[in-house]
Amino acid sequence: MRGSMMDSPLLISSLLDYAATYHGDTEIVSRSVEGPIHRYTYRQALRRCRQLANVLQGLGVENGDRVATMAWNGYRHLELYFAISGMGAVCHTLNPRLFQDQLIYIVNHAADRFLFVDLSFVPILEAAADRLDRIEGYVVMTDAEHMPETSLPNAHCYETLMEQADDDFAWPQFDENTASSLCYTSGTTGHPKGALYSHRSTVLHSFSVCMADTLALSSRDAVLPVVPMFHANAWGLPYAAPMCGAKIVFPGPRLDGASVYQLLQDEAVNITAGVPTVWLMLLEHCANNDLQLEHVDRVVIGGSAAPGSMIEAFKTQHGCEVIHAWGMTETSPLGTVGTLKRKHDALSAAEQLALQVKQGRGIYGVELRIVDDQGKELPRDGVAFGELQVRGPWVIDAYYRHDQPILDAEGWFSTGDVATLDPDGFMQITDRSKDVIKSGGEWISSIDLENEAVSHPDVTEAAVIGIAHRKWNERPLLVVVPRQGATLSKEDLLQHLESRVAKWWLPDDVVFVDELPHTATGKISKLTLRKQFEGYVLPEGGSAGN
Ligand code: AMP
Repeated sequence: MRGSMMDSPLLISSLLDYAATYHGDTEIVSRSVEGPIHRYTYRQALRRCRQLANVLQGLGVENGDRVATMAWNGYRHLELYFAISGMGAVCHTLNPRLFQDQLIYIVNHAADRFLFVDLSFVPILEAAADRLDRIEGYVVMTDAEHMPETSLPNAHCYETLMEQADDDFAWPQFDENTASSLCYTSGTTGHPKGALYSHRSTVLHSFSVCMADTLALSSRDAVLPVVPMFHANAWGLPYAAPMCGAKIVFPGPRLDGASVYQLLQDEAVNITAGVPTVWLMLLEHCANNDLQLEHVDRVVIGGSAAPGSMIEAFKTQHGCEVIHAWGMTETSPLGTVGTLKRKHDALSAAEQLALQVKQGRGIYGVELRIVDDQGKELPRDGVAFGELQVRGPWVIDAYYRHDQPILDAEGWFSTGDVATLDPDGFMQITDRSKDVIKSGGEWISSIDLENEAVSHPDVTEAAVIGIAHRKWNERPLLVVVPRQGATLSKEDLLQHLESRVAKWWLPDDVVFVDELPHTATGKISKLTLRKQFEGYVLPEGGSAGN
Protein backbone atom coordinates (compact mmCIF):
# COMPACT_ATOMS: atom_id res chain seq x y z
CA MET A 1 0.00 0.00 0.00
CA ARG A 2 1.37 3.40 -0.93
CA GLY A 3 1.43 6.16 1.62
CA SER A 4 -0.83 9.07 0.87
CA MET A 5 1.45 12.03 1.46
CA MET A 6 2.37 14.67 -1.09
CA ASP A 7 5.04 13.63 -3.54
CA SER A 8 6.71 17.05 -3.72
CA PRO A 9 10.04 16.87 -5.53
CA LEU A 10 13.11 17.97 -3.56
CA LEU A 11 14.36 20.74 -5.84
CA ILE A 12 17.27 23.15 -5.35
CA SER A 13 15.09 26.12 -6.35
CA SER A 14 12.98 25.51 -3.23
CA LEU A 15 15.97 26.28 -0.99
CA LEU A 16 16.35 29.84 -2.21
CA ASP A 17 12.59 30.37 -2.40
CA TYR A 18 12.42 29.41 1.26
CA ALA A 19 15.27 31.72 2.25
CA ALA A 20 13.79 34.67 0.37
CA THR A 21 10.38 34.16 1.99
CA TYR A 22 11.37 33.45 5.57
CA HIS A 23 14.81 35.04 5.83
CA GLY A 24 14.39 37.72 3.21
CA ASP A 25 16.50 40.30 5.01
CA THR A 26 19.35 37.95 5.94
CA GLU A 27 22.57 39.00 4.28
CA ILE A 28 24.93 37.44 1.78
CA VAL A 29 28.24 39.28 2.00
CA SER A 30 31.03 38.82 -0.55
CA ARG A 31 34.52 40.13 -1.00
CA SER A 32 34.29 40.83 -4.71
CA VAL A 33 37.00 40.08 -7.23
CA GLU A 34 36.89 43.75 -8.20
CA GLY A 35 37.78 44.67 -4.62
CA PRO A 36 34.94 46.14 -2.57
CA ILE A 37 32.70 44.21 -0.20
CA HIS A 38 29.33 43.46 -1.79
CA ARG A 39 26.26 42.83 0.33
CA TYR A 40 22.66 42.01 -0.40
CA THR A 41 19.89 39.85 1.02
CA TYR A 42 18.32 36.50 0.20
CA ARG A 43 15.33 38.41 -1.18
CA GLN A 44 17.55 40.29 -3.61
CA ALA A 45 19.51 37.15 -4.44
CA LEU A 46 16.35 35.34 -5.48
CA ARG A 47 15.34 38.22 -7.73
CA ARG A 48 18.76 38.17 -9.41
CA CYS A 49 18.64 34.38 -9.79
CA ARG A 50 15.37 34.69 -11.67
CA GLN A 51 16.94 37.34 -13.87
CA LEU A 52 19.90 35.06 -14.48
CA ALA A 53 17.61 32.17 -15.41
CA ASN A 54 16.17 34.45 -18.10
CA VAL A 55 19.71 35.31 -19.24
CA LEU A 56 20.49 31.60 -19.55
CA GLN A 57 17.31 30.97 -21.49
CA GLY A 58 18.18 33.88 -23.73
CA LEU A 59 21.54 32.29 -24.46
CA GLY A 60 19.71 29.14 -25.50
CA VAL A 61 20.50 26.97 -22.47
CA GLU A 62 18.10 24.05 -22.22
CA ASN A 63 17.23 21.29 -19.76
CA GLY A 64 20.20 19.07 -19.02
CA ASP A 65 22.75 21.34 -20.73
CA ARG A 66 26.02 21.72 -18.86
CA VAL A 67 26.97 25.29 -18.00
CA ALA A 68 30.43 25.69 -16.51
CA THR A 69 31.70 28.13 -13.90
CA MET A 70 35.25 29.06 -13.03
CA ALA A 71 34.88 31.33 -10.07
CA TRP A 72 35.77 32.15 -6.49
CA ASN A 73 33.28 32.02 -3.65
CA GLY A 74 31.04 35.00 -4.25
CA TYR A 75 27.48 36.16 -4.82
CA ARG A 76 27.55 35.83 -8.61
CA HIS A 77 28.76 32.25 -8.26
CA LEU A 78 25.88 31.62 -5.84
CA GLU A 79 23.46 33.04 -8.38
CA LEU A 80 24.82 30.63 -10.99
CA TYR A 81 24.44 27.68 -8.59
CA PHE A 82 20.74 28.43 -8.20
CA ALA A 83 19.81 29.77 -11.62
CA ILE A 84 21.49 27.01 -13.65
CA SER A 85 20.19 24.14 -11.52
CA GLY A 86 16.88 25.86 -10.85
CA MET A 87 16.02 26.09 -14.54
CA GLY A 88 16.89 22.40 -15.07
CA ALA A 89 20.42 22.69 -16.46
CA VAL A 90 23.61 21.37 -14.82
CA CYS A 91 26.03 23.67 -13.02
CA HIS A 92 29.54 22.39 -13.69
CA THR A 93 32.11 23.93 -11.34
CA LEU A 94 35.67 24.02 -12.69
CA ASN A 95 38.73 24.07 -10.49
CA PRO A 96 41.01 26.85 -11.82
CA ARG A 97 44.03 25.26 -10.16
CA LEU A 98 43.99 22.24 -12.46
CA PHE A 99 46.66 21.75 -15.10
CA GLN A 100 45.63 23.09 -18.48
CA ASP A 101 45.36 19.64 -20.10
CA GLN A 102 43.11 18.38 -17.33
CA LEU A 103 40.94 21.45 -17.56
CA ILE A 104 40.54 21.07 -21.30
CA TYR A 105 39.75 17.40 -20.89
CA ILE A 106 37.07 18.13 -18.31
CA VAL A 107 35.31 20.90 -20.25
CA ASN A 108 35.27 18.80 -23.41
CA HIS A 109 34.23 15.64 -21.60
CA ALA A 110 31.33 17.43 -19.95
CA ALA A 111 30.47 19.09 -23.30
CA ASP A 112 29.86 22.38 -21.51
CA ARG A 113 27.99 24.87 -23.71
CA PHE A 114 28.74 28.12 -21.87
CA LEU A 115 31.41 29.10 -19.41
CA PHE A 116 31.01 31.79 -16.74
CA VAL A 117 34.35 33.09 -15.54
CA ASP A 118 35.61 35.40 -12.81
CA LEU A 119 37.96 38.20 -13.89
CA SER A 120 40.94 36.46 -12.25
CA PHE A 121 40.64 33.42 -14.47
CA VAL A 122 40.08 35.02 -17.87
CA PRO A 123 43.77 34.52 -18.83
CA ILE A 124 43.56 30.79 -18.03
CA LEU A 125 40.65 30.42 -20.43
CA GLU A 126 42.16 32.65 -23.10
CA ALA A 127 45.13 30.28 -23.19
CA ALA A 128 42.87 27.24 -23.52
CA ALA A 129 39.92 28.55 -25.56
CA ASP A 130 40.95 27.23 -28.96
CA ARG A 131 40.92 23.70 -27.52
CA LEU A 132 37.54 23.98 -25.78
CA ASP A 133 35.53 22.36 -28.54
CA ARG A 134 31.97 22.69 -27.39
CA ILE A 135 31.92 26.09 -25.68
CA GLU A 136 29.60 28.47 -27.55
CA GLY A 137 30.25 31.53 -25.44
CA TYR A 138 31.84 32.98 -22.33
CA VAL A 139 30.36 35.26 -19.72
CA VAL A 140 32.80 37.33 -17.67
CA MET A 141 31.42 37.71 -14.15
CA THR A 142 31.80 41.45 -13.77
CA ASP A 143 30.17 44.76 -14.68
CA ALA A 144 30.65 46.89 -17.79
CA GLU A 145 33.13 49.14 -16.01
CA HIS A 146 35.50 46.23 -15.26
CA MET A 147 34.89 44.24 -18.43
CA PRO A 148 38.36 43.43 -19.83
CA GLU A 149 39.55 43.37 -23.40
CA THR A 150 39.58 39.67 -24.12
CA SER A 151 40.39 37.26 -26.90
CA LEU A 152 37.71 34.87 -25.64
CA PRO A 153 35.31 34.23 -28.51
CA ASN A 154 31.71 35.35 -28.05
CA ALA A 155 32.42 36.98 -24.67
CA HIS A 156 29.62 38.68 -22.73
CA CYS A 157 29.57 40.83 -19.62
CA TYR A 158 27.53 39.33 -16.76
CA GLU A 159 26.00 42.55 -15.46
CA THR A 160 25.18 43.82 -18.94
CA LEU A 161 23.25 40.62 -19.64
CA MET A 162 21.54 40.92 -16.26
CA GLU A 163 20.45 44.50 -16.90
CA GLN A 164 18.70 43.39 -20.05
CA ALA A 165 16.87 40.50 -18.37
CA ASP A 166 13.45 40.37 -16.75
CA ASP A 167 13.21 39.14 -13.15
CA ASP A 168 9.98 37.29 -13.80
CA PHE A 169 10.74 33.58 -13.96
CA ALA A 170 8.82 30.61 -12.56
CA TRP A 171 11.08 27.75 -11.50
CA PRO A 172 10.02 24.64 -13.42
CA GLN A 173 8.95 21.58 -11.42
CA PHE A 174 10.52 18.29 -12.45
CA ASP A 175 11.70 14.92 -11.15
CA GLU A 176 13.92 15.34 -8.12
CA ASN A 177 16.40 12.83 -9.54
CA THR A 178 17.25 15.26 -12.36
CA ALA A 179 20.96 16.15 -12.56
CA SER A 180 21.76 19.48 -10.92
CA SER A 181 25.51 19.92 -10.76
CA LEU A 182 28.74 18.33 -11.80
CA CYS A 183 32.15 18.27 -10.18
CA TYR A 184 35.21 16.36 -11.37
CA THR A 185 37.59 14.74 -8.92
CA SER A 186 41.13 16.01 -9.18
CA GLY A 187 42.20 12.46 -10.04
CA THR A 188 45.75 11.57 -9.07
CA THR A 189 45.85 8.88 -11.74
CA GLY A 190 44.14 8.74 -15.12
CA HIS A 191 41.62 11.31 -16.29
CA PRO A 192 39.51 13.22 -13.79
CA LYS A 193 36.08 11.70 -13.28
CA GLY A 194 32.79 13.52 -12.83
CA ALA A 195 30.40 13.22 -9.90
CA LEU A 196 26.96 14.23 -11.16
CA TYR A 197 24.74 15.32 -8.28
CA SER A 198 20.95 15.40 -8.39
CA HIS A 199 18.44 17.82 -6.88
CA ARG A 200 17.36 15.10 -4.49
CA SER A 201 20.89 14.22 -3.34
CA THR A 202 21.71 17.90 -2.87
CA VAL A 203 18.61 18.71 -0.81
CA LEU A 204 19.00 15.61 1.36
CA HIS A 205 22.67 16.48 1.88
CA SER A 206 21.64 19.99 2.93
CA PHE A 207 19.31 18.60 5.60
CA SER A 208 22.26 16.65 6.88
CA VAL A 209 24.54 19.72 7.04
CA CYS A 210 21.93 21.44 9.22
CA MET A 211 21.48 18.55 11.65
CA ALA A 212 22.51 19.40 15.19
CA ASP A 213 24.93 16.49 15.36
CA THR A 214 26.72 17.51 12.17
CA LEU A 215 27.43 21.21 11.52
CA ALA A 216 24.22 22.38 13.22
CA LEU A 217 23.83 25.17 10.68
CA SER A 218 20.89 27.42 11.53
CA SER A 219 19.37 30.87 11.09
CA ARG A 220 21.43 31.97 14.09
CA ASP A 221 24.70 31.40 12.21
CA ALA A 222 26.93 33.46 9.95
CA VAL A 223 28.94 31.00 7.88
CA LEU A 224 32.12 31.66 5.91
CA PRO A 225 32.99 28.85 3.53
CA VAL A 226 36.70 29.15 2.79
CA VAL A 227 36.44 25.81 1.03
CA PRO A 228 35.93 26.73 -2.63
CA MET A 229 32.63 26.44 -4.43
CA PHE A 230 34.61 24.63 -7.15
CA HIS A 231 35.57 21.88 -4.71
CA ALA A 232 32.66 19.56 -3.85
CA ASN A 233 30.23 22.52 -3.80
CA ALA A 234 31.97 24.16 -0.84
CA TRP A 235 30.90 21.14 1.19
CA GLY A 236 27.26 21.89 0.42
CA LEU A 237 27.21 25.11 2.45
CA PRO A 238 25.81 27.32 -0.35
CA TYR A 239 22.74 25.05 -0.39
CA ALA A 240 22.46 24.39 3.35
CA ALA A 241 22.68 28.09 4.31
CA PRO A 242 19.48 29.11 2.46
CA MET A 243 17.77 25.96 3.71
CA CYS A 244 18.07 27.30 7.26
CA GLY A 245 18.49 31.02 6.61
CA ALA A 246 22.09 31.35 7.78
CA LYS A 247 23.99 34.49 6.79
CA ILE A 248 26.67 33.69 4.20
CA VAL A 249 30.04 35.42 3.97
CA PHE A 250 32.09 34.72 0.85
CA PRO A 251 35.85 35.40 0.89
CA GLY A 252 36.30 35.87 -2.88
CA PRO A 253 39.88 35.58 -4.07
CA ARG A 254 41.65 36.46 -0.84
CA LEU A 255 42.26 33.38 1.27
CA ASP A 256 45.38 34.53 3.13
CA GLY A 257 45.31 34.64 6.93
CA ALA A 258 44.93 38.41 7.21
CA SER A 259 42.03 38.67 4.74
CA VAL A 260 40.11 35.72 6.17
CA TYR A 261 40.67 37.05 9.69
CA GLN A 262 39.31 40.44 8.78
CA LEU A 263 36.12 39.05 7.27
CA LEU A 264 35.57 36.70 10.22
CA GLN A 265 35.82 39.70 12.51
CA ASP A 266 33.97 42.33 10.48
CA GLU A 267 31.02 40.11 9.66
CA ALA A 268 30.84 38.43 13.09
CA VAL A 269 31.20 35.04 11.49
CA ASN A 270 30.71 32.21 13.97
CA ILE A 271 31.17 29.13 11.79
CA THR A 272 33.72 28.64 9.05
CA ALA A 273 34.94 25.70 7.01
CA GLY A 274 38.08 24.81 5.10
CA VAL A 275 41.12 22.57 4.63
CA PRO A 276 43.99 22.52 7.15
CA THR A 277 46.32 24.59 4.93
CA VAL A 278 43.99 27.57 5.19
CA TRP A 279 43.78 27.29 8.97
CA LEU A 280 47.53 27.09 9.20
CA MET A 281 47.71 30.52 7.55
CA LEU A 282 44.97 31.94 9.77
CA LEU A 283 46.46 30.62 13.02
CA GLU A 284 49.89 31.91 12.03
CA HIS A 285 48.47 35.33 11.24
CA CYS A 286 46.72 35.45 14.62
CA ALA A 287 49.80 34.24 16.50
CA ASN A 288 52.17 36.68 14.77
CA ASN A 289 49.88 39.64 15.37
CA ASP A 290 48.55 38.71 18.77
CA LEU A 291 44.96 38.48 17.48
CA GLN A 292 41.95 36.63 18.77
CA LEU A 293 39.02 35.17 16.83
CA GLU A 294 36.23 36.88 18.69
CA HIS A 295 33.09 35.49 17.09
CA VAL A 296 34.00 32.08 15.71
CA ASP A 297 32.68 29.19 17.77
CA ARG A 298 32.94 26.34 15.22
CA VAL A 299 35.71 25.60 12.72
CA VAL A 300 34.97 22.79 10.31
CA ILE A 301 38.13 21.07 9.10
CA GLY A 302 38.18 18.47 6.36
CA GLY A 303 39.75 17.54 3.06
CA SER A 304 42.91 16.40 4.83
CA ALA A 305 43.52 15.24 8.36
CA ALA A 306 43.22 17.95 11.02
CA PRO A 307 46.29 17.59 13.24
CA GLY A 308 45.69 17.46 17.00
CA SER A 309 47.93 20.50 17.45
CA MET A 310 45.62 22.53 15.21
CA ILE A 311 42.49 21.38 17.04
CA GLU A 312 44.14 22.35 20.32
CA ALA A 313 45.32 25.73 19.03
CA PHE A 314 41.79 26.67 18.00
CA LYS A 315 40.44 25.57 21.35
CA THR A 316 43.01 26.99 23.73
CA GLN A 317 43.96 30.16 21.87
CA HIS A 318 40.58 31.10 20.38
CA GLY A 319 37.92 29.14 22.28
CA CYS A 320 36.68 27.51 19.04
CA GLU A 321 35.37 24.00 18.75
CA VAL A 322 36.87 22.15 15.82
CA ILE A 323 34.50 19.89 13.92
CA HIS A 324 36.65 17.42 12.06
CA ALA A 325 34.83 16.02 9.06
CA TRP A 326 35.57 13.58 6.28
CA GLY A 327 34.12 13.34 2.82
CA MET A 328 34.84 13.16 -0.86
CA THR A 329 33.59 14.71 -4.09
CA GLU A 330 31.86 11.37 -4.57
CA THR A 331 29.93 11.75 -1.29
CA SER A 332 28.57 15.29 -1.91
CA PRO A 333 30.85 15.50 0.28
CA LEU A 334 29.68 14.99 3.87
CA GLY A 335 30.51 11.46 5.03
CA THR A 336 31.42 11.59 8.72
CA VAL A 337 31.41 14.41 11.27
CA GLY A 338 33.30 14.42 14.55
CA THR A 339 30.95 16.04 17.04
CA LEU A 340 31.26 14.53 20.50
CA LYS A 341 28.40 12.70 22.19
CA ARG A 342 26.92 13.52 25.56
CA LYS A 343 28.88 10.79 27.29
CA HIS A 344 32.15 12.31 26.03
CA ASP A 345 31.68 15.37 28.25
CA ALA A 346 33.06 13.30 31.10
CA LEU A 347 36.35 12.65 29.27
CA SER A 348 39.58 14.51 29.95
CA ALA A 349 40.76 17.09 27.42
CA ALA A 350 43.39 14.63 26.14
CA GLU A 351 40.79 11.89 25.70
CA GLN A 352 38.46 14.26 23.87
CA LEU A 353 41.29 15.31 21.59
CA ALA A 354 42.02 11.66 20.81
CA LEU A 355 38.44 11.42 19.50
CA GLN A 356 38.55 14.72 17.65
CA VAL A 357 41.60 13.78 15.60
CA LYS A 358 39.55 10.92 14.22
CA GLN A 359 37.78 11.86 10.99
CA GLY A 360 34.32 11.87 12.55
CA ARG A 361 31.49 9.50 13.24
CA GLY A 362 28.81 8.03 11.07
CA ILE A 363 25.90 10.34 10.32
CA TYR A 364 22.37 9.42 9.33
CA GLY A 365 22.30 8.99 5.55
CA VAL A 366 25.78 7.56 5.00
CA GLU A 367 26.32 3.91 5.85
CA LEU A 368 29.93 3.01 6.58
CA ARG A 369 31.87 -0.24 6.79
CA ILE A 370 35.47 -1.39 6.51
CA VAL A 371 36.49 -4.48 4.57
CA ASP A 372 39.63 -6.55 4.04
CA ASP A 373 41.26 -7.38 0.69
CA GLN A 374 38.61 -10.04 0.03
CA GLY A 375 35.75 -7.66 0.71
CA LYS A 376 34.96 -9.27 4.08
CA GLU A 377 33.62 -6.86 6.67
CA LEU A 378 36.02 -6.12 9.54
CA PRO A 379 35.06 -5.52 13.18
CA ARG A 380 34.13 -2.06 14.45
CA ASP A 381 36.62 -2.20 17.27
CA GLY A 382 38.75 0.87 16.57
CA VAL A 383 41.75 -1.38 15.89
CA ALA A 384 41.13 -3.40 12.73
CA PHE A 385 41.68 -1.35 9.63
CA GLY A 386 40.63 -1.90 6.06
CA GLU A 387 39.18 -0.16 3.05
CA LEU A 388 36.36 2.20 3.91
CA GLN A 389 33.14 1.68 1.94
CA VAL A 390 30.08 3.91 1.94
CA ARG A 391 26.47 3.77 0.75
CA GLY A 392 23.63 6.26 0.83
CA PRO A 393 21.39 8.73 -1.04
CA TRP A 394 24.13 11.33 -1.56
CA VAL A 395 26.88 8.86 -2.48
CA ILE A 396 27.87 8.40 -6.13
CA ASP A 397 26.31 5.59 -8.13
CA ALA A 398 28.38 5.91 -11.32
CA TYR A 399 30.84 8.45 -12.72
CA TYR A 400 29.50 10.76 -15.38
CA ARG A 401 29.74 9.21 -18.86
CA HIS A 402 31.81 6.36 -17.55
CA ASP A 403 30.88 2.78 -18.41
CA GLN A 404 32.64 0.91 -15.66
CA PRO A 405 30.50 -0.04 -12.68
CA ILE A 406 31.95 1.36 -9.47
CA LEU A 407 29.77 -0.30 -6.83
CA ASP A 408 30.12 -3.84 -5.51
CA ALA A 409 27.30 -6.39 -5.64
CA GLU A 410 25.72 -4.98 -2.48
CA GLY A 411 25.89 -1.40 -3.70
CA TRP A 412 28.89 -0.22 -1.66
CA PHE A 413 31.28 2.42 -3.01
CA SER A 414 34.95 1.87 -2.16
CA THR A 415 36.49 5.15 -1.06
CA GLY A 416 40.18 4.31 -1.46
CA ASP A 417 40.69 5.34 2.17
CA VAL A 418 42.00 2.91 4.73
CA ALA A 419 40.31 3.37 8.09
CA THR A 420 39.27 2.02 11.46
CA LEU A 421 35.74 2.25 12.89
CA ASP A 422 35.19 2.24 16.63
CA PRO A 423 32.11 1.01 18.52
CA ASP A 424 30.80 4.62 18.80
CA GLY A 425 30.97 4.97 15.03
CA PHE A 426 34.07 7.19 14.93
CA MET A 427 36.08 6.57 11.80
CA GLN A 428 39.80 7.19 11.62
CA ILE A 429 41.65 7.26 8.36
CA THR A 430 45.02 5.63 8.56
CA ASP A 431 45.82 6.31 4.91
CA ARG A 432 44.77 6.51 1.32
CA SER A 433 45.17 2.92 0.15
CA LYS A 434 47.88 4.04 -2.26
CA ASP A 435 49.78 6.11 0.33
CA VAL A 436 50.04 3.48 3.03
CA ILE A 437 53.65 2.41 3.61
CA LYS A 438 54.12 -1.31 3.38
CA SER A 439 57.08 -2.22 5.54
CA GLY A 440 57.94 -5.90 5.86
CA GLY A 441 54.33 -7.00 5.36
CA GLU A 442 53.02 -4.54 7.97
CA TRP A 443 51.33 -1.20 7.24
CA ILE A 444 52.59 2.13 8.49
CA SER A 445 50.13 5.00 8.46
CA SER A 446 51.60 8.04 6.75
CA ILE A 447 48.83 10.24 8.25
CA ASP A 448 49.67 9.22 11.82
CA LEU A 449 53.34 9.98 11.26
CA GLU A 450 52.51 13.35 9.67
CA ASN A 451 50.22 14.31 12.54
CA GLU A 452 52.89 13.49 15.09
CA ALA A 453 55.51 15.39 13.11
CA VAL A 454 53.42 18.58 12.92
CA SER A 455 52.78 18.40 16.65
CA HIS A 456 56.43 19.54 16.98
CA PRO A 457 56.27 23.30 17.54
CA ASP A 458 58.95 24.00 14.91
CA VAL A 459 57.18 22.12 12.12
CA THR A 460 54.79 23.92 9.77
CA GLU A 461 53.89 21.09 7.44
CA ALA A 462 54.98 17.48 7.02
CA ALA A 463 54.49 14.64 4.58
CA VAL A 464 55.54 11.01 4.74
CA ILE A 465 56.08 8.82 1.69
CA GLY A 466 57.31 5.28 1.24
CA ILE A 467 60.75 4.82 -0.28
CA ALA A 468 61.65 1.49 -1.87
CA HIS A 469 63.74 -0.64 0.43
CA ARG A 470 65.66 -3.77 -0.45
CA LYS A 471 64.79 -5.66 2.69
CA TRP A 472 61.54 -4.15 3.98
CA ASN A 473 59.90 -3.37 0.63
CA GLU A 474 59.19 0.25 1.71
CA ARG A 475 60.34 2.51 4.51
CA PRO A 476 59.02 5.96 5.52
CA LEU A 477 60.73 9.18 4.53
CA LEU A 478 59.61 12.30 6.39
CA VAL A 479 59.63 15.55 4.41
CA VAL A 480 59.24 18.63 6.56
CA VAL A 481 58.69 22.36 6.13
CA PRO A 482 60.23 23.91 9.27
CA ARG A 483 58.72 26.97 10.90
CA GLN A 484 60.33 30.15 9.60
CA GLY A 485 63.44 30.99 11.60
CA ALA A 486 63.49 27.66 13.45
CA THR A 487 66.64 25.60 13.77
CA LEU A 488 65.44 22.07 13.63
CA SER A 489 67.54 18.95 13.13
CA LYS A 490 66.72 15.44 12.01
CA GLU A 491 67.70 14.20 15.47
CA ASP A 492 65.29 16.64 17.18
CA LEU A 493 62.44 15.35 15.11
CA LEU A 494 63.22 11.68 15.49
CA GLN A 495 63.50 12.19 19.23
CA HIS A 496 60.10 13.90 19.20
CA LEU A 497 58.58 10.99 17.30
CA GLU A 498 60.22 8.27 19.38
CA SER A 499 57.83 8.63 22.28
CA ARG A 500 54.83 8.92 19.99
CA VAL A 501 54.99 6.07 17.50
CA ALA A 502 56.12 2.46 17.41
CA LYS A 503 59.86 2.22 16.95
CA TRP A 504 59.61 0.41 13.62
CA TRP A 505 57.45 3.28 12.33
CA LEU A 506 60.21 5.85 12.81
CA PRO A 507 61.15 7.42 9.46
CA ASP A 508 64.46 6.20 8.06
CA ASP A 509 65.32 9.74 7.04
CA VAL A 510 64.13 13.33 7.39
CA VAL A 511 64.44 15.91 4.63
CA PHE A 512 63.84 19.65 5.12
CA VAL A 513 62.25 21.62 2.29
CA ASP A 514 60.92 25.18 1.81
CA GLU A 515 57.53 24.01 0.64
CA LEU A 516 55.55 20.90 -0.15
CA PRO A 517 53.70 20.34 -3.43
CA HIS A 518 49.89 20.67 -3.18
CA THR A 519 47.14 19.39 -5.45
CA ALA A 520 44.49 21.57 -7.02
CA THR A 521 42.29 20.93 -4.01
CA GLY A 522 44.90 21.93 -1.43
CA LYS A 523 45.99 18.47 -0.34
CA ILE A 524 49.67 17.55 -0.20
CA SER A 525 50.45 15.93 -3.53
CA LYS A 526 52.03 12.64 -2.58
CA LEU A 527 52.25 11.80 -6.26
CA THR A 528 54.49 14.79 -6.99
CA LEU A 529 56.46 14.19 -3.82
CA ARG A 530 57.05 10.56 -4.75
CA LYS A 531 58.29 11.73 -8.16
CA GLN A 532 60.58 14.29 -6.52
CA PHE A 533 62.10 11.61 -4.35
CA GLU A 534 62.21 8.88 -6.97
CA GLY A 535 65.42 6.92 -6.55
CA TYR A 536 66.10 8.52 -3.16
CA VAL A 537 68.59 6.43 -1.21
CA LEU A 538 67.82 5.99 2.47
CA PRO A 539 70.71 5.90 4.90
CA GLU A 540 71.74 2.44 6.12
CA GLY A 541 70.50 1.19 9.47
CA GLY A 542 66.92 2.47 9.60
CA SER A 543 64.41 1.69 12.31
CA ALA A 544 62.55 -1.22 10.77
CA GLY A 545 64.49 -4.06 12.24
CA ASN A 546 65.19 -2.60 15.66
P1 AMP B 1 38.17 15.11 -2.64
O1 AMP B 1 37.23 14.27 -3.40
O2 AMP B 1 39.12 15.87 -3.48
O3 AMP B 1 37.45 15.97 -1.68
O4 AMP B 1 39.09 14.14 -1.79
C1 AMP B 1 38.54 13.19 -0.93
C2 AMP B 1 39.64 12.55 -0.12
O5 AMP B 1 40.23 13.51 0.76
C3 AMP B 1 39.17 11.46 0.80
O6 AMP B 1 38.98 10.23 0.12
C4 AMP B 1 40.28 11.41 1.81
O7 AMP B 1 41.38 10.67 1.35
C5 AMP B 1 40.69 12.86 1.93
N1 AMP B 1 40.06 13.46 3.11
C6 AMP B 1 38.93 14.15 3.18
N2 AMP B 1 38.69 14.55 4.44
C7 AMP B 1 39.71 14.09 5.20
C8 AMP B 1 40.05 14.17 6.58
N3 AMP B 1 39.30 14.81 7.46
N4 AMP B 1 41.18 13.54 6.97
C9 AMP B 1 41.96 12.89 6.10
N5 AMP B 1 41.70 12.80 4.79
C10 AMP B 1 40.59 13.39 4.34
